[in-house]
Amino acid sequence: MREKSHTTELRVRGLVVREVLLGETDKLLSVMTAEYGRIPIMAKGARSIKSHLITSAQLMCYSELTFYEREGRRWLREASPIEVFYPIRLDIEGFALAQYFFSICCELFPEGNADGAADMLRLLLNSLYAIMTDLRPQPLIKAAFEFKAMALSGFAPDLDGCAECGAVDSPYMLLDLAGGTLRCEKCVERAIREDINQSLISRTEEERRGAAASFSLSPELLGLLRFIAAAPIKRFLSFEAEGTVAAQLGAVCENYLCNQLERGFETLDFWHSLRLAQSSGGQKEQT
Ligand SMILES: [Zn+2]
Repeated sequence: MREKSHTTELRVRGLVVREVLLGETDKLLSVMTAEYGRIPIMAKGARSIKSHLITSAQLMCYSELTFYEREGRRWLREASPIEVFYPIRLDIEGFALAQYFFSICCELFPEGNADGAADMLRLLLNSLYAIMTDLRPQPLIKAAFEFKAMALSGFAPDLDGCAECGAVDSPYMLLDLAGGTLRCEKCVERAIREDINQSLISRTEEERRGAAASFSLSPELLGLLRFIAAAPIKRFLSFEAEGTVAAQLGAVCENYLCNQLERGFETLDFWHSLRLAQSSGGQKEQT
């Protein structure tokens, strides 16, 4: 017990969002916590079947973790599960979606950044629960998570109204995916007229690409985005969307996130490939 007397034990509730296997039986966990943000914790022997850590020190477990710090590292001493999202592993699509959410979390929360971590943790826990219980269709959970994660991290677009004239309602609004601003129909049409006058050819390549990276929002779609951005986390999935509107919501949320973060995600591509395989498989079965 000599070691214990020289180290301070800390206790924290955290969700394991990434794990790296080390050696024969060890793991390096990346744990999302409300207090410290995302932190690395070494779990020695956690993969040994004899280890008391085996069930709670793993991906997608929300656990109470007791650790100590030594030589600049955190070492896991005990872990007891609070909520285990293990059933998600049995559904490959759900598992892929959870992995994508973890990728977003890791991108938005570099280790040690605790600002807003409590909200992100709650969003993750609510979303995992929704996947596990089939609370809503996965594409809706995905879209709402993407947009809510952006809103919680300060990347939300200004959805109050047109950035030029302040109009709140319009037959459609154009969302600039990179700039995060709206333009109403009148301002878009005026811009197009002015653009033609100035000649499109004179614009730089960058300006042309910027102009192309926008998304037309119907009043219904804009209403959904406003709801997701403003809703309390426990209610962020309490909306209805079907058919074309649901598909458009999925497209705008994903494109907005990837535009804002200026990157794609392998975990996202993987989830899409599973959806595609499932829908083409479904069509084959019907014929
Ligand atoms: Zn306007």
